[in-house]
Amino acid sequence: MSAQREGTPMSAGTVYLVGAGPGAPDLLTLRAARLLERADIVFHDALVHPGTIALARNAEKIAVGKRCGKHSTAQKFINKRLVDAAAKYRVVIRLKGGDPMLFGRAQEEIAALEAAGIAFEIVPGVTAALAASAELGISLTQRGVARTVTFVTPRVGAGEDASNWVASVLAADAAAIYMGAGQARAISDALRAAGMPGTTPVAIVENASLAQARTHFTTLSQLPQIEAHHFDGPTLILLGPQYCDAVIATDVERCRALLQVAAG
Ligand code: SAH
Repeated sequence: MSAQREGTPMSAGTVYLVGAGPGAPDLLTLRAARLLERADIVFHDALVHPGTIALARNAEKIAVGKRCGKHSTAQKFINKRLVDAAAKYRVVIRLKGGDPMLFGRAQEEIAALEAAGIAFEIVPGVTAALAASAELGISLTQRGVARTVTFVTPRVGAGEDASNWVASVLAADAAAIYMGAGQARAISDALRAAGMPGTTPVAIVENASLAQARTHFTTLSQLPQIEAHHFDGPTLILLGPQYCDAVIATDVERCRALLQVAAG
């Protein structure tokens, strides 16, 4: 997609909002890889893999990323830097984790680029929910079991309207909860208070697509226990009937381990 506002003078550069995918550099699209090779300047999220950033061989590389609880660059400042860079460079890349159009604040950047009359294009990426499903080996949708999936985040920014994420999770067969690992108890409490059974199967995937990926199965009522885990990478919470067998299998393994300890 490209866009240009009529009547506004065009700058020389184009800004590409590029999806870096979930982590593994080889999950980048070919289009993204080719653009990175041509990039003059790359503004990347903190979580983008160094191997992905390295593809931009000749580019100036600037971390502007958001990282939960760590330093992050204010969105307005990022917008301004993109606009300024387009006046100086031909190929400007804003490299975002996963897909830029999902929980990526792309719209704020698009609005700033449109207002400044700067051409832009979006390059999609593999979003975390899909990489997490690959990691689990369990399909996100399943015939007769999970025919609707909702992508939600319980996170609400300062000054924003309340989110209807709970209603959305209740209405769908399955849910992918982004930016939720630090709020496991609040998520569990809110969904159960709204009537979701405590036995609802939950899958948790940390660092999907990377060598250090970890998966964990639990239930909605036991979800708060994950707050004790130390997650050092991005973590997605998935919820739905398709994880039922895996939750049961995990419990069976736990039983076996206990039996072995007792026997030993
Ligand atoms: N635009 C991104 C999402 C940005 S919000 C996308 O499309 O994937 C950041 C959240 O995404 C994290 O808090 C986490 O919930 C999820 N996430 C991103 N990468 C992940 C990964 N490799 N494994 C698990 N979750 C991930």
